[in-house]
Amino acid sequence: MQRTDIIILGAGLTGLTCAHYLAKKNRDFLIVDKQNRPGGVIGTVSENGFIYETGPNTGVISHPEVANLFDDLKTDISCELADKISEKRYILMNGKLETLPSGLIGGITTRLFSWKDKFRLLGEPFRNPGTDPDENLAHLVKRRMGKSFLDYAVDPFVLGIYAGDPAQLVPKYALPKLYNLEQEYGSFIGGAIKKKRRKKDLEAKKATRKIFSVKGGLSRFTEALQQSAGAEKCLFDLQQITIAKCNNGYLLKGSVVKGDAIEILAKQVVSTVGAYALRNLFPFFNSKHLNKIESLHYTRVIEVAVGFKKWLGRPLDAFGALIPHCEKRDILGIMFMSSLFEGRAPEKGALMTIFIGGVRRQELCELDDKGIKKLVERELKDLLELHEFNPDLFRIMRHSNAIPQYCADSKMRYESIDALQNEFPNLVLAGNIRNGIGMADRIKQGKMIADGL
Ligand SMILES: Cc1cc2nc3c(=O)[nH]c(=O)nc-3n(C[C@H](O)[C@H](O)[C@H](O)COP(=O)(O)OP(=O)(O)OC[C@H]3O[C@@H](n4cnc5c(N)ncnc54)[C@H](O)[C@@H]3O)c2cc1C
Repeated sequence: MQRTDIIILGAGLTGLTCAHYLAKKNRDFLIVDKQNRPGGVIGTVSENGFIYETGPNTGVISHPEVANLFDDLKTDISCELADKISEKRYILMNGKLETLPSGLIGGITTRLFSWKDKFRLLGEPFRNPGTDPDENLAHLVKRRMGKSFLDYAVDPFVLGIYAGDPAQLVPKYALPKLYNLEQEYGSFIGGAIKKKRRKKDLEAKKATRKIFSVKGGLSRFTEALQQSAGAEKCLFDLQQITIAKCNNGYLLKGSVVKGDAIEILAKQVVSTVGAYALRNLFPFFNSKHLNKIESLHYTRVIEVAVGFKKWLGRPLDAFGALIPHCEKRDILGIMFMSSLFEGRAPEKGALMTIFIGGVRRQELCELDDKGIKKLVERELKDLLELHEFNPDLFRIMRHSNAIPQYCADSKMRYESIDALQNEFPNLVLAGNIRNGIGMADRIKQGKMIADGL
């Protein structure tokens, strides 16, 4: 039997970030995962002159913890910021790609929003803040800004992050920065201006809206974290893991691939796995609490990497194109990866990532590979003005438990997580069951956990 102070369950970005900071504090820990590699959903493949991601494609440096982590790893990897072109985003409207406005003039002249809503926006700072903490996002945006802003700004934005439905997501949990603008300042516009003017200390200034990846792809990031944590501290390919409570803390039992049993005794356990994995891992948890955590819905998503050695379509001069649900198309959006980062496609070529499915189009995830290819061909030919569709790379990644949806059941989930943590001391229940779904949120949480241990 092995002994350690802390077991971390899951070697995705959350677990690895936590491990990195524990190693910096010289703490005794082991990180275990059922997969045979670090990174969790993060993965990068180099193939036929293209470098594509099999999970997340880009992150935002939205918390200082992200900048600090890259600083820690700067001798091993280079954080790569997206080209300036990423500030431009296309939104599909009536079958045409329109540029999402960023300034006042663009905001007034754009076709994306109705004149009625543009005028209504003048009154936004004077509207009363909402009083229902479980109000859904669609309701909040319609109340403050109007339906056209919901349909052609917030809905595609939410599809890009959550592949979700604004009528189900609850901003208090899903978009807390937006929720807090209304709650703290009484207005999105007024709050954004006041926040911008507020004096920030050096640490707070590190949080930006800059988009990041890593030179060579995001796998480099998680591999570097694994190295800094200590390769010998990471146990991969561990199957049928269960945790039992015992006098001295917690006992992990599992088996390595050959079938050999393994036992690890630890004083503390940090879980970073998804809600769907908790019941088998922690058989001693009260079902009443588990049910409330397991009700967290993870939407299915299909991700397709498409590469062309010679690009003959319209210029890919933006971050990508987002497709509002009301446009009734079969894809959620396209990211122009080779326009954002260097070396993702051969010169004069193009690499893009397409997302399909999500909460409101689950049925598309049932399509077989041939069906997906046909769908992508149809949409790309039309949206990106391609006459022929002969990609040099076409890879389909199917994610069954992809993006958790922070909906109206979130309050109960948080309460159950707290209840279990109170009942079982030295146990941390984390990962994307709480505190946000983006990579920046995961890094912030991983660091916070390590600080608290
Ligand atoms: C398709 C997709 C696209 C995304 N795009 C973006 C994006 O562009 N930008 C962004 O910021 N975020 C994006 N995200 C979200 C972001 O990738 C994740 O929030 C983040 O990487 C999750 O890290 P994690 O460590 O919390 O979880 P995971 O990466 O899921 O890691 C959890 C680990 O736990 C392990 N595990 C699970 N069950 C068990 C078990 N029973 N025993 C042992 N180990 C177990 C898993 O093998 C896994 O390695 C995307 C997510 C997906 C799925």
